[in-house]
Amino acid sequence: MRRVFIKTYGCQMNFYDSSRMSDMLLAKNSVLVDDITDADIVLYNTCHIREKAAEKVYSELSKIKQLKKDRRRAGGNLTLILAGCTAQAEGEQVFERAPYVDIVVGPQSYHTLPKLLEDLEKFGSRQINLNFEENKKFDDIERSEQGPSVFLSVQEGCDKFCHFCVVPYTRGAEFSRPANEVYREALLLISSGAKELTLLGQNVSAYHSQIDNVEYNLGKLVEMLAGINGLERIRYVTSHPIDMHESGMLHAHKNIDKLMPFLHLPIQSGSNRILKKMNRKHSREFYLSLIEEFRAARSDMAFSSDFIVGYPEESNEDFMDTVNIVNEVKYSQCYSFKYSQRPGTPAASIKEQVSEDVKAARLSCLQDVLLNQQLEFNQSVIGKSFQILLQKVGKYEDQLVGKSPYMQSVVVNKGNSKIGDIITVKVVSAHQNSLYATRV
Ligand code: SF4
Repeated sequence: MRRVFIKTYGCQMNFYDSSRMSDMLLAKNSVLVDDITDADIVLYNTCHIREKAAEKVYSELSKIKQLKKDRRRAGGNLTLILAGCTAQAEGEQVFERAPYVDIVVGPQSYHTLPKLLEDLEKFGSRQINLNFEENKKFDDIERSEQGPSVFLSVQEGCDKFCHFCVVPYTRGAEFSRPANEVYREALLLISSGAKELTLLGQNVSAYHSQIDNVEYNLGKLVEMLAGINGLERIRYVTSHPIDMHESGMLHAHKNIDKLMPFLHLPIQSGSNRILKKMNRKHSREFYLSLIEEFRAARSDMAFSSDFIVGYPEESNEDFMDTVNIVNEVKYSQCYSFKYSQRPGTPAASIKEQVSEDVKAARLSCLQDVLLNQQLEFNQSVIGKSFQILLQKVGKYEDQLVGKSPYMQSVVVNKGNSKIGDIITVKVVSAHQNSLYATRV
């Protein structure tokens, strides 16, 4: 029995990929361990999104070097695998800079991991696969993931080339999984206990497929999945504003009750000047009109977004445009970051970078506004009733925590309920990151 230790960095997609790699390894006589010193296989699934990402990965890898030496001295072996976007970006260089790495595998080739391990054992030589074989990576991997709410990957890659982002270089072009395969996997997940599916894609709103010459955009895919008995809730992430009209999601939000009224729609900046420099391909006005359209389609829609502050050449005025758009939209929750140079992207080579002090001050100002909004949004549901899907045990044993339709964490007394139940609750109090509710 092989003992596998997996460490994942970065986005939801990476965590999803790690769970699939774990599924593949567990199917081949392996168990997961929490302590790296117990492992026979160490897998790092890396992210390349931050500045100096590669340096940080090499520094992390060097810590395993000694572990590997000790293991060898004791007559054992330790296999070191580097996966994910840093593996893709560094390629063969990994073996030069960290010769103790055994396997390098890119995010579009992780389905070949069992074969790479086999070849490593058979030939004793280091293995690498960085191919972009998107359509194969989802095939024939049994899911061991259980739980009432699970991710289902439907789309990968990106053709948008925002000037700050590495995804189009590390994940490749946009690729959608065939709708019938998604459906088949959804059936399996529901039959093993899932109640909620989150359709995952770097540009999930660009999803497109066909069944019997009928076009399937994301909205039509959601409609098909909504017909599955036992599937109670559908979510999707992450969307790009310019795809939203063609995605069919306006229609879907209007007509499909199982589709939760929550949309994560990143804008990144509220300044048209900066949006243009970012190559976002839409204006603030277009974004605001989309928000209105979604609110018209479903009046209780809640929105979240991502923001980057201190993008190269961002002025105070540009930054205030961002604060203003936040005040206009009124988000339920958001992610905000200081801009950091990502190697190989056009923005990284712009000379006029904003100083760290200014970035920090702007981020703190924006986060104050966003946190206030989040609290206001949470307070706005006090006294309201809705269904929650119970997903985990709370801080105390007699509590369970579920998610509201709007992605808020809701704490309730356990009573006779169990994880996986959907119960109706009435909100009695609201805090920054959670709500307290009683059952109705
Ligand atoms: S849309 Fe832009 S930010 Fe999103 S993955 Fe594509 S390039 Fe990156």
